[in-house]
Amino acid sequence: MRAAMFYAPEDVRMEDVPTPEPGPGEVLVRIEAALTCGTDVKSYKRGHPTLFKTMPSPFGHEFAGEIEAVGERVGDWRPGMRVVAANSAPCNRCYYCKVGDQSMCEELEFLNGAFAEYIVVPSRIVDQNLFEIPDGVEFSRAALLEPLACAVHGVVRTPIELGDTVAVIGAGQIGLMFVRLATERGARVICVDKSLDRLAVARKLGAEETIEAADGVDTIAAVREWTLEGRGTDVVIEAVGLPALWEQALEMVRKGGEVTLFGGAPSGTSIQVDTLLLHYSQITIRGIFHHTPHTVQTAFDLLRSGRVDPEPFISGVRPLEDIVAALESHGRQEGIKYEIRP
Ligand SMILES: [Zn+2]
Ligand SMILES: [Zn+2]
Repeated sequence: MRAAMFYAPEDVRMEDVPTPEPGPGEVLVRIEAALTCGTDVKSYKRGHPTLFKTMPSPFGHEFAGEIEAVGERVGDWRPGMRVVAANSAPCNRCYYCKVGDQSMCEELEFLNGAFAEYIVVPSRIVDQNLFEIPDGVEFSRAALLEPLACAVHGVVRTPIELGDTVAVIGAGQIGLMFVRLATERGARVICVDKSLDRLAVARKLGAEETIEAADGVDTIAAVREWTLEGRGTDVVIEAVGLPALWEQALEMVRKGGEVTLFGGAPSGTSIQVDTLLLHYSQITIRGIFHHTPHTVQTAFDLLRSGRVDPEPFISGVRPLEDIVAALESHGRQEGIKYEIRP
């Protein structure tokens, strides 16, 4: 089969590799649609500390397709079923799994290889995070499951009440999902990004106000001005992953507000926090990573029911052979994310 292999940062090659075979508890999926993701773009540019087990590594993690073959003992999964899977599953044995924090599982099993014709879904993911796609939901739309599960995780862990004001920094795929989900929760949302195109999508998804983070624009002041008496928003969510923006988030929130830091910043970076601000303003800072089987389930239901419309998130379709060009377009922030069709 044809597959994209990750050799090193900026070295991803299309190759002929053996089509994998499903072992016990596993299913082989013929990929109908994969999606580029911000994580793929970051991995392509600078590598990834934990994602790749071997080099060269299969690449890509958002996909949907049809079951081609099943291994022994896979329960009710059968060839021909249309399915979507999340890109990981927890062990359910470690301390963090036992206390219900599965995104911090010590043995999280990741799946790479969505940018290929076929992929074997390991048994742990089959058991916990594989779903049959209902009729009427396209493969490319279902493939949005994993990033949406991440955004759902961020939103369910952040106290957002009816009528709250929420600032979302970043209008990439995850930021836009936060815009949509916070709006769904009854909040009024303001979104900050550099790209006017992306901000237009944010408005389509429910943002009441948008701010273009152009050079010379004081985005902190702009967010505060939008709130009553300039007190700042009840909640700020950072969905870019830049230390400078993490710091800005702390200045946009009101006293007693909540700051959720979702964007993964480069390793080795740190931020400065004004101790007086943190103490006297009683600000809560929260880091959120990845998803859990519960938030994957919730994301699946939001997609299945149409409560989240995947259409605005997918900016174009590219053939598998063009994966590198698609990642580069995504990296240049042309559009939100791309569908890859093998
Ligand atoms: Zn992703
Ligand atoms: Zn675990």
